[in-house]
Amino acid sequence: MPSVDRTLASQADVPLAPLTTLGVGGRARWLVRAQTADQTAAAIKWSADQQVPLFVLGGGSNLVVSDEGFDGLVLQVAVAGLEFIAERDRTIVRAGAGEPWDDVVSAAVSRGLAGLECLSGIPGTTGGTPIQNVGAYGQDVSRTITAVTVLDRATGATRVMAGTECGFGYRSSRFKGDDAGRFVVCDVTFSLAPGAPTLAYPDVIAELEGRGITAPTVSDAREAVLAIRRRKGMVIDAADPDTRSVGSFFMNPVVDADHRGRLARARDAKIPGYELPDGRLKVPAAWLIEQSGFARGYSSGTAGISSKHPLAIVNRGGATARDVLALAVQIKRQVADHFGVWLRPEPAFVGFEDDPDVAFLQETVN
Ligand SMILES: Cc1cc2nc3c(=O)[nH]c(=O)nc-3n(C[C@H](O)[C@H](O)[C@H](O)COP(=O)(O)OP(=O)(O)OC[C@H]3O[C@@H](n4cnc5c(N)ncnc54)[C@H](O)[C@@H]3O)c2cc1C
Repeated sequence: MPSVDRTLASQADVPLAPLTTLGVGGRARWLVRAQTADQTAAAIKWSADQQVPLFVLGGGSNLVVSDEGFDGLVLQVAVAGLEFIAERDRTIVRAGAGEPWDDVVSAAVSRGLAGLECLSGIPGTTGGTPIQNVGAYGQDVSRTITAVTVLDRATGATRVMAGTECGFGYRSSRFKGDDAGRFVVCDVTFSLAPGAPTLAYPDVIAELEGRGITAPTVSDAREAVLAIRRRKGMVIDAADPDTRSVGSFFMNPVVDADHRGRLARARDAKIPGYELPDGRLKVPAAWLIEQSGFARGYSSGTAGISSKHPLAIVNRGGATARDVLALAVQIKRQVADHFGVWLRPEPAFVGFEDDPDVAFLQETVN
């Protein structure tokens, strides 16, 4: 086994499934865990010099790893560090990419800072959050990220990217789009201010009302979000098999007014969703999946649909990546047949070169 760097312990032939929340997939040829930006840079340089493929791993909570594994170097970014810098009316929060995301949210909330409270309970690392512009219950990180420090694999240079340069959109960014795989996030900076929580979602408002809280603090909002998420199997819990997932497997599709009309007529139903400023409708993928015939708790061998949330494909124990993909393909086909809507997957796929199932899942016509 080649030495990646004298300061960096590398392991060979490492099972990847235990490093992911879905728990499927084969082995990595090599794995290194980089605890500093310098170690991260050394691993990137080594893979470039040796012409070895590189995959960047965070907390493994948004990944489907192929059963064949990854024939290259998996670089687990574990850069630590969390600082709160008080400015006049705001607090700058700078977190290393390897910091567990919910620890950052919890630390901000405990200081009374608003802006991240609705993102409580999301697994994974802080470095993973800008990749798909992590969001939930009316917040996403694009609203508070002011800078992202990245290592540019194309040049080997470190660069500080402003939040506005990240190309954030709904569950997307340049890191997942045009520049996928190019930048390795080393740390993320947020700008937060003390204040009231974001109360944009009926579920959160109802939960707070149910608790008799009339003037909620950010702490109250965090507790409400965590309670809702637990009921949906959306907080990782070893004792809850419905949490062996990547969270939502599909994104909520956006349909135009014409498609929306056709959908409503075809189903003789009011289509639920959130109206976007341009008149299009973001339709809950969970609704489409249930309406097209998949019940919560549905099983297809060792893969299945969570009994608490129709959007989560779960590993019921012993599932392979192929089992998960087969179910995802079945769901996408059935929703397309019923509604003419092509769902798009949310997780990253690792080690699936030219795989027809992955290609189909990523295909879109709407
Ligand atoms: C139970 C559950 C609930 C979830 N709920 C939500 C939710 O409410 N909202 C939401 O948006 N997501 C949710 N997710 C998805 C997931 O938790 C987030 O997308 C998370 O930010 C992924 O971070 P990670 O560190 O685990 O990344 P990984 O899964 O390890 O990687 C995901 C992608 O990010 C890249 N990446 C990771 N770290 C870096 C880095 N430092 N530099 C460059 N690229 C990197 C990887 O290469 C890969 O392409 C949920 C997942 C689960 C299992």
